[in-house]
Amino acid sequence: MTLSSRPVLETRALTKAYGGFTAVGPVDLRISEGTVHALVGPNGAGKTTLFHLLTGHVPAGTGRIVLDGRDITGHSPERIARLGVARSFQVTSLFEHATAAEHLELALMAGSPLGRAFWRSDRALARHRERALELLDQVGLARWADEPAGRLPYGRGRALELALAIALDPKLLLLDEPTAGMGTEDIERTVELIGRVRQGRTVVLVEHNMQVVASLAERVTVLQRGRILAEGSYDDVRSDERVVEAYLGAGHE
Ligand code: ATP
Repeated sequence: MTLSSRPVLETRALTKAYGGFTAVGPVDLRISEGTVHALVGPNGAGKTTLFHLLTGHVPAGTGRIVLDGRDITGHSPERIARLGVARSFQVTSLFEHATAAEHLELALMAGSPLGRAFWRSDRALARHRERALELLDQVGLARWADEPAGRLPYGRGRALELALAIALDPKLLLLDEPTAGMGTEDIERTVELIGRVRQGRTVVLVEHNMQVVASLAERVTVLQRGRILAEGSYDDVRSDERVVEAYLGAGHE
C-alpha cells in the first residue's frame, strides 16, 4: 500500500453533534481504493455514527464527505447506494418468511436499471434467480436457498446480509460489526468470506474483534471521543501507547 493510493472515500473535517455533544469530529478520513479499512475504538468512540454518516443514514453536521472526488455530503442513503456504496443490513428487519433466494431476487430487482417493466418479465425473473443462487453459493448458502430467512441460524443470516450487500456489485462495501455475536466457527467463515468478497472492491468495517481486524485490515483507524486517535497498520496501532491507554481507560482488555 503506497501513500499515493487513490482515495475512494474521504471525509473532510466531518462532524456530527447531538445537542451540545460532539459524537464525531472533526474527522479527516481517507479510505484508499482496494483496501480493507477498519474503524475501531472503545465503546462510544463514534464508530457507528461515523459509519452512518458515510452511508447517509445520519446527516452530516459540518464538513464534507467525498466519494471518488464527488461531494456526496447531504445525499440520501439511496442516492449514495446508487453511486456504488453498499452496506450490510439486518435481514431480521426484512421479511422473515421470504426465503434466502427471494431476498436476493428482490435486491437484484430493486437494483435493476431497467426498472419494473423489465424485472416483471419471466426472463428477467429467471435471470435474477440464477444470479441469486450464484450469490448464495458465494457466501456458502447454496443449500439454504429455499429456507425462510427467519429460520436461518444466526451466522448464516449474517452471511445472507453480506450476499445482499454485494448483490449489486458495489465498489465500496461498508460492514458494521460483521462478526458481532458469532461463535468461533462463524467468525472464521465470515473472515474467509470477507476475504473473498473484497476482491475488486474497497471495504470499510467497524469491528470490535481485533483478531478479525488483524486478519483482514490493511489500514486501521482508531477513534476516541469522536476523533482519530491513531491510524496505520494493525501492528502500528496495537503498539501505539495512546491506543493501549484508550482501551484500558475504557475498561477493555
Ligand atoms: P459502540 O462501540 O458502543 O457501538 P461507537 O464507537 O459506535 O460505540 P457511537 O454509537 O457512534 O459509538 O456513539 C458515539 C457517541 O455519540 C456516544 O456517546 C453516543 O451516546 C452518542 N450518540 C450516538 N447516537 C446518538 C443520538 N442519536 N443521540 C444522542 N447521542 C448519540
